[in-house]
Amino acid sequence: MANHRIIGIRDFGAGSYVLRMDRCNLDFEPGQYIIAGLPHGIHRREYSVYSSPSDDFLEILIKEIDGGHVSSELRRLSVGDKVNVEGAFGYFRISVDDLSAPFLFIATGTGISPFHSFTRFYPDLDYRLVHGIRSLEERYDYADYDKTRIFSCVSREEGGSYQGRVTGWLKENRLPEDSLVYLCGNSGMVDEVYSILASRGFSADRIHAELYF
Ligand SMILES: Cc1cc2nc3c(=O)[nH]c(=O)nc-3n(C[C@H](O)[C@H](O)[C@H](O)COP(=O)(O)OP(=O)(O)OC[C@H]3O[C@@H](n4cnc5c(N)ncnc54)[C@H](O)[C@@H]3O)c2cc1C
Repeated sequence: MANHRIIGIRDFGAGSYVLRMDRCNLDFEPGQYIIAGLPHGIHRREYSVYSSPSDDFLEILIKEIDGGHVSSELRRLSVGDKVNVEGAFGYFRISVDDLSAPFLFIATGTGISPFHSFTRFYPDLDYRLVHGIRSLEERYDYADYDKTRIFSCVSREEGGSYQGRVTGWLKENRLPEDSLVYLCGNSGMVDEVYSILASRGFSADRIHAELYF
C-alpha cells in the first residue's frame, strides 16, 4: 500500500474523469484493479487500472456517482494531492497463450477501463470492442483505439456507431464463434449478455467477466 501523488486530472464531462498518479513502482497486469481512497479516509473502492504496464504513470478512469463516497471524494482532489492505493488484484487478464485469439470486448461506461489497458499493452490484439454508453461524451479516449475495432452503442443520443444498448448490437451482429469474450461493467449487462452468448452457443469457459456493481 502506498500514497500516490496526483500528477494530472482529465475531465470527460458526464461526471467522468481520469486521475493520473505517480506509478510508485506499482506492479500490475493489464486488466487488474487497485483499491483506492483518501490517505486517511474511511472508504476505499476498487478501480480497474486504465493505463498500461508500459506507462511510467498510473491512471484510473472514474465515474462520479451521485451520493457516492469515494468517487466524489477523489473528484475533489487536485494535482499534488495523494491517493492511497493498494494492489494490484484480480484475474481479469489475458493469458499469453491466448494473445493471438480473436477477442470480443464488451463494456458499459467506465467498464472500458481494462480494455484501454489491454489494447495499449498488447497493440497487435485482434479485438472488437463494443461500448455501451448513454451519451457521446462517454466515448473515453476513443482516439487511443483502432477506429475500425471500436463500436459505441449510445442509448440516449444519436451519433454513435449504433443507437441502442450493447444487447441490441449483439443480437444484430454476427459473432465469430472462436472469439474469447470479456465483459466488464454493470451486472445487469453482464447477465443479459451471458444469456445472448449462451443462446449463440458460446461455452462459459470462453467468457470472462468483471462486475463493477
Ligand atoms: C473490480 C472492480 C473494478 C471497478 N472499477 C471501476 C472503474 O474503473 N471505474 C469506476 O468508475 N468504477 C469502478 N468500480 C466501481 C467502484 O468500485 C465504486 O463502486 C464506484 O466508484 C462507486 O463508489 P462510491 O464510493 O462513489 O459509491 P458508494 O457510496 O459505494 O455507493 C453508491 C451506489 O452507486 C452504485 N454504483 C457503483 N458504481 C456505479 C456506476 N458506475 N454507475 C451507477 N451506479 C453505481 C453502487 O452500487 C451503490 O449503490 C469497480 C468495481 C469493482 C468491483
